[in-house]
Amino acid sequence: MRPQVTVVGSVNRDATVAVSQFPRPGETLLGGDLAQTLGGKGANQAVAAARLGAVTCFVGAIGVDGADVRSELVEAEVGVSGLVTLEDVPTGAAFILVDDAAENMIVVSPGANARLAPAHLPAALLDGPGGVLLLQQEVPTDVVTEAARRAKDEGGTVVLNPAPSRPIALDLLDAVDVLVPNQHELAALLDAPEPEGIEDCRALLARLPEHIEACVTLGADGALARSDAEIVHIQAPRVTAVDTVGSGDTFCGALGVALGNGASFTDSVAWAVHAASIAVGYRGAQGAFRGDDDLARLGP
Ligand code: ADP
Repeated sequence: MRPQVTVVGSVNRDATVAVSQFPRPGETLLGGDLAQTLGGKGANQAVAAARLGAVTCFVGAIGVDGADVRSELVEAEVGVSGLVTLEDVPTGAAFILVDDAAENMIVVSPGANARLAPAHLPAALLDGPGGVLLLQQEVPTDVVTEAARRAKDEGGTVVLNPAPSRPIALDLLDAVDVLVPNQHELAALLDAPEPEGIEDCRALLARLPEHIEACVTLGADGALARSDAEIVHIQAPRVTAVDTVGSGDTFCGALGVALGNGASFTDSVAWAVHAASIAVGYRGAQGAFRGDDDLARLGP
């Protein structure tokens, strides 16, 4: 049986330009050719989950200008029955610069994503109790909280990627099974100073609520996974990073698939580290897993 993953979140048009260095305030630079792709943390995670073999549904909002965005999700084999079209608001957009060192700067214009409301959620979010719900924080808090509660009632596993950072209400945390922050988001969650290395991250991870399984992604250093008070460091394979935009999204999509397959939390994190590391070898937030070769490299 294929794992089942539902994503409630954002969808954007990404406009990406490569630059040799980032502009300073007031400066104009010439960059590379414009690349326009589907983006948004929610859509990225849904596409990653679909490419990695899950039956995937996306719940979100676009404007009436967003027919191409809907088509791209369909092409990626993501179910769109939960994608609503809203009047008088544009589809979300993101403006991304990537420099020679594969670092990025991003400005997001939320558009329709900011107008997604609990009333837009479908009656059932999951196909059954084994399903996984992936959530991020690019849509309003009341939608995220309501979706988490409902998926929990349906017997699913609720995964929250607390990105971008914002304060998390306790009633949302009660409904979350798995938390997936990066280092900055982990520090923000705990209102702690930025961690200065893996040992700092380990100490912060240990402070998260006990009922939650948690991991923190560490870029080229892989991830730390906390399960039953034990914290394991999973190294990332060494790869040539071309574009790290969306690596956290590939990580979350892969984690959802592995959890939906019934893998243990630590094994799921290890698989997600491997998948996300393959993804940074491609340009574009959704560049990963274009063919069977990548799936073969990733393994079961
Ligand atoms: P985010 O994009 O959310 O900040 P991270 O930068 O922590 O997330 O990256 C998420 C995952 O992507 C990592 O756990 C790792 O598997 C992979 N990754 C990111 N950057 C690299 C890199 N330079 N080399 C190898 N893997 C990477």
